[in-house]
Amino acid sequence: MQNYVSIIKNNGGIKPVSDELLLPLIVPQKRLLLGPGPSNLSERVIRAISNPLVGHMHAETFKMMDDIKAGLQYVFQTNNRLTLAISASGHSGMEACLANLLEPTDTILIIKAGLWGERAQEMSERLGAHVETLTIPLGSAVTHQQFESAMKKFKPAVVFLTHSESSTGLKQPLIGFGDIVRRYEALLIVDAVASLGGEPFFMDAWKIDAAYTGSQKVIGAPPGLTPISLNSRAERKLLLRKNKVPVFYWDMKELGNYWNCFKEPVRRYHHTISATLVYGLREGLAQLAEEGLESSWQRHAVAAKKLREGFEARGLELFVKEPENRLNTITAIVVPPGVDCQFVTRRMMEKWNIEIAGGLGPTAGKIFRIGLMGTNANLKNVDDVLHALDDVLKYSTRHSRL
Ligand code: PMP
Repeated sequence: MQNYVSIIKNNGGIKPVSDELLLPLIVPQKRLLLGPGPSNLSERVIRAISNPLVGHMHAETFKMMDDIKAGLQYVFQTNNRLTLAISASGHSGMEACLANLLEPTDTILIIKAGLWGERAQEMSERLGAHVETLTIPLGSAVTHQQFESAMKKFKPAVVFLTHSESSTGLKQPLIGFGDIVRRYEALLIVDAVASLGGEPFFMDAWKIDAAYTGSQKVIGAPPGLTPISLNSRAERKLLLRKNKVPVFYWDMKELGNYWNCFKEPVRRYHHTISATLVYGLREGLAQLAEEGLESSWQRHAVAAKKLREGFEARGLELFVKEPENRLNTITAIVVPPGVDCQFVTRRMMEKWNIEIAGGLGPTAGKIFRIGLMGTNANLKNVDDVLHALDDVLKYSTRHSRL
């Protein structure tokens, strides 16, 4: 037996652990996650992630990764071979697209219509790119005319557009933007974190060069893996880079090898993917594929319509004014005068065990955001959240008058 007495003494003793850690794990069992994500997991996904762990280079894991790739090609509606999932949350998709497709001298045009454009700007600046922005009023979509004149003015190499601006509830129409981007020989990156699977999205037909989404929203898997797809134009830029991709972990050539996208003879270790998260993503995608994209879009549309009608019947104002630009996955309403946003979200959680969110970034304190994504996009949840909100808003108005 090793005697540790002297090493402990020579290092000043062992610092004690907090007593809290030694108490039993506490996880709320019935919380309804109706914020902008994550969404509740289905029983099937919960069962999948409780399987025993296997290794990141085991044949079974590789097989599941192949299944995921096929599922992702389906939800993105693409034939892109460079389609995989990065081992990190949704931000990694944004950072990987930017880090792989931008070189230090490149200009990027970022359409800013809420928080996600701001984030893309922050990341692009850190990467040393030249950043130009086109700022659109919160809750409004960019038009082809506005977009094309910015393309003409800035001549960017890369363009960043958010499909599902979860900080406002805006759905940015995408048709036609890819054609404009190609006329200017640029690459189009689209953030579809809060929409993919819940809203129509046709990566190839819409000529989107790079796109990413979240595992934890419509797909209904735990957060921690980020689906991403690059087309052959994006791949070409990646292969012709003068400089290495600045972050090894995001390097899509390395990841593409690990995910066997290029069918190279040897599949190299890149990082230790979480097999647990692989099980969850595979099953979330399988469930979505079994339902079918069209049915899933329809289910999200029906639930969102009922939620919007419920808000309007209560005199609550929808933040996005154009009906066709309202996301079905996340609905934003204006905080009524005299209502304390934080009080409402806190009480919804404490009394009703329902998560809804306030605004984010530029919309903080101005809106509530309610997400109906994946398994949560159903009419019972709409009834439950409206019922709880009725109670909390009544209480909060009385409360704020005191
Ligand atoms: N983009 C959008 C549109 C999002 O809604 C989110 C998450 N709310 C992200 C990016 C970032 O994802 P994550 O929090 O998983 O890093």
